[in-house]
Amino acid sequence: MTPYDASPAQGQPGLIDGFGRTVTYLRVSVTDRCDLRCVYCMAEHMTFLPKAEVLTLEELDRIASAFVRLGVKKLRITGGEPLVRKGVMGLFEGLSRHLQSGALSELTLTTNGTRLTEFAGRLADAGVKRINVSLDTLKPDLFRRLTRGGDLAKVVAGIEAAQAAGLKVKINAVALKDDNAEELPDLIRWAHGRGCDMTLIETMPMGEVEADRTDQYLSLKDVRRELESYWTLSDIPLSTGGPARYVEVAETGGRLGFITPLSHNFCEACNRVRLTCTGTLHTCLGQEDATDLRAVLRAGASDEDLIEAIRLGVDAKPKGHDFKIARAAAPAVARHMSTTGG
Ligand code: SAM
Ligand code: SF4
Repeated sequence: MTPYDASPAQGQPGLIDGFGRTVTYLRVSVTDRCDLRCVYCMAEHMTFLPKAEVLTLEELDRIASAFVRLGVKKLRITGGEPLVRKGVMGLFEGLSRHLQSGALSELTLTTNGTRLTEFAGRLADAGVKRINVSLDTLKPDLFRRLTRGGDLAKVVAGIEAAQAAGLKVKINAVALKDDNAEELPDLIRWAHGRGCDMTLIETMPMGEVEADRTDQYLSLKDVRRELESYWTLSDIPLSTGGPARYVEVAETGGRLGFITPLSHNFCEACNRVRLTCTGTLHTCLGQEDATDLRAVLRAGASDEDLIEAIRLGVDAKPKGHDFKIARAAAPAVARHMSTTGG
């Protein structure tokens, strides 16, 4: 692969959208496939994309590097499950050149953790410092049911391998009313006890899954109220430009984040955009806006054409989302989280 040069960043003005927000954070989905089938994320029988529709690793590198050239400082690789994509380590190793040049501040990953025992060392060698691991329960049977077949022990071993390789691990859990609501304090204690920050996420209405989302939805306002009845939570000013709001839990000494897209609107400070594994740029998680960067690339675009297409896409970033969870309502957007990249 010829490494695409992102160095002349100085000459390029940053990526600023039509509402004056500067985009500095890109999430890149590298595959729609996954070795798990979480009930809130995927249908049991998913039809995955034909290979030709998915960007090659070279195309992913080229687009991500164009964003870096335009001032993006943080890249998060996600999916589907990024670590099931063949050759994905080569992508990390290639992109790490932007860390070395100083153009990029952070290269990171969101993973379900099943393959971390295999890849943690190489991730650390590529300059990855922190990763997010999704984990909704510590009960092996419930884990198997929520992921439709997953093995909890593999994920726990993966987390341990990541920490042993020097990676800082944050645990993400989706709050599910019937399934893990009561276990959340234990999960938080467990994560904090291992030196991991923890973030709770409300379910978002994305893509058709079999379950009724109103039955799964649990307001994090209620979770917070409950936790505050026996723990001391103090707000900490840790803003990532994203939807998470953080507190410190005095009793565990760890940090806890709440991602509440439904009960709290966070769009004014949004600094992020997403690239799907098919090369579609989505500038808002909750809207259908889209720019087809794959078509631009495959039409033989020069770097300047690609940059122009990215600028036009970002310029049209919507002001905000309008997620609602109403009984029997259609999903706000038809695509699954695994396609957009969580
Ligand atoms: N496979 C990786 C993982 O699970 O971490 C990365 C992709 S996954 C789509 C990213 C995150 O999105 C996970 O933390 C997952 O729990 C979350 N997620 C998936 N579907 C969701 C939904 N409908 N609402 C809220 N979070 C969701
Ligand atoms: Fe796979 Fe992640 Fe979706 Fe679970 S949340 S099915 S691990 S992509």
